[in-house]
Amino acid sequence: MAGISSLSSPVNTPAHAKELELIEETTKNAYELQNYALAQILTQNAHTEYLKNFNLDGATDRKSFLSKVPMVTYDDLQPMIQRLVDGDRTPILCALPISEFLSSSGTSSGDPKLFPNHEEETNRRLLLCSLIRPILNKFVKGWEQGKGLYFMFVKPEARTRGGHPIQPGSTGMVRKRDAESRPHDPYYDFTSPTEAMFCTDPFQSMYTQMLCALYERQQVGRVGAQFALGLLRAIRFLQLNWQQLTRDIRTGSLSPNVTDPSIRECMTRVLRPNPALAGFIAQECVKGSWEGIIIRIWPNTKYIDVIITGSTAQYIPTLDYYSGGLPKISWIYGSPECFPAINLNPICNPSEISYTIMPNMAYLEFLPYLPNSDPVDLADVKIGQEYELVVTTYAGLYRYRTGDIIRVTGFHNSAPQFRFVKRRNAVLSVGADETDEVELQAASEKASRFLEEFGASVLDYTSYAEAGHYVVYVELLVKKSGESPSDEVMEKCCVVMEESLMMNWVYRRCRVEEKSIGALEIRVVKSGAFEEMVDYAVSRGASVNLYKVPRCLTVKPILEILQSRLLSTHFTPSIPQSIPTPTKL
Ligand code: AMP
Repeated sequence: MAGISSLSSPVNTPAHAKELELIEETTKNAYELQNYALAQILTQNAHTEYLKNFNLDGATDRKSFLSKVPMVTYDDLQPMIQRLVDGDRTPILCALPISEFLSSSGTSSGDPKLFPNHEEETNRRLLLCSLIRPILNKFVKGWEQGKGLYFMFVKPEARTRGGHPIQPGSTGMVRKRDAESRPHDPYYDFTSPTEAMFCTDPFQSMYTQMLCALYERQQVGRVGAQFALGLLRAIRFLQLNWQQLTRDIRTGSLSPNVTDPSIRECMTRVLRPNPALAGFIAQECVKGSWEGIIIRIWPNTKYIDVIITGSTAQYIPTLDYYSGGLPKISWIYGSPECFPAINLNPICNPSEISYTIMPNMAYLEFLPYLPNSDPVDLADVKIGQEYELVVTTYAGLYRYRTGDIIRVTGFHNSAPQFRFVKRRNAVLSVGADETDEVELQAASEKASRFLEEFGASVLDYTSYAEAGHYVVYVELLVKKSGESPSDEVMEKCCVVMEESLMMNWVYRRCRVEEKSIGALEIRVVKSGAFEEMVDYAVSRGASVNLYKVPRCLTVKPILEILQSRLLSTHFTPSIPQSIPTPTKL
């Protein structure tokens, strides 16, 4: 099994030494750079309608800023953002002209949020992304010799009433870096042709990206997507379409299902009959087990490039299964609001991934994740403490609560490093209880480990509070087709999950003493049900690259999709006996 040790130890290369030095300098002067960033943001935007409300009178220091400008959420800003969306060109939030609106994935509420952006901020984010290469040079020897197989998708361009493009953060970045970097930067040497990545039809785009990657199977050195779900979607696509793909490779012709003229034109340069390659791929796909399929098809892959922190940690075992345990690199923590941090130590175990704050990207505050606390700045965070990130950005957000909860894990020079923990408002509750994403994830992991013994694991899950009890929808990855776990095993699985949830003492009290929470229910859904859920979200405007499965469901139509794909339901038969010691007050 490939693993972290299969990568070389750090390589000293003179290339990119300047950028590495820049990272060191920036993180050594974190506090000063934060002051500088705040002063710049306030100076640049002093005459915006928003800041004028708070009578800063030209002050750009923290004390004045924190005492006069309040912390806000999206709801507070929504009326102003709506005016911008409707075409108001006055400087409401930021002084620089708006170039686009970045949309969030809409995972939590179902409705994407929109954030104004400008060219200067896009360039700042691209600069941050460009730091990945020197770090790669340092840790992964020879990465530049292989091509990148990245499943990237763009959405059809939408525009606001005021005429600005609306795009997910990733779409704009793909377009811009493609235009500027692809011809000469080995990092952007992808197997996917531009025409395929920029095709807005998800099927035709994925089909062509996969076909090209199969042709270049020996050249691929890195495999990835933005979030883990995107890569798993590609594997499933291969499972469903390998027959047509191998037919195309055998004959050197393109499936009639791909109709996009620019793709058909560009594929004439790629397609050639290759019966030996087609035979090899068919032989790998027809095998009963898909274990290690990534490394079997793309044998020179050095690592998997996907974000696997936070709620996407759910997919680590499945990625390990498909990739034969290749190292997984999560590079960046970012959102449409802000790109504040990168991973400086990419080759580590997923449970140890920390992101380091780059103090010149925005001004950051850390609101302790405790009742009635006041935010602290970067110099005063405590290792081990959880905080909500509050950002002030060049693009016109001031003391904006992101809803992301992080835990500080250490410092690189004087810049804090953190682990992503969860979204603040993603909780499941039927009454006084509150179960968060982390607790649900722990329960799912334990259930998955329990099922391993019976030839299955939890591929994906979500939860819902219904009629006084928790319902957990799960899609199973059954290792040998036709050998699903029995009803008896699934009942025991309910017990395993519920024992895990009882680590939360409020849940335990409600369930055991007050009996206000009923038996936990697992609803097993058909294979592909979660993919259909993603398809639904994408059809409503979510980005394929960015969509994250909500772990606590609130959106009715998504619930209906899962409900209509039900295979079986199982309950905890009685209150679990081996009640663990609770940890959460
Ligand atoms: P969106 O869902 O479009 O708003 O995407 C941004 C959100 O994705 C952030 O606010 C985080 O909640 C999440 N996110 C971004 N980067 C990471 C990461 N590296 N690890 C975990 N979650 C992340």
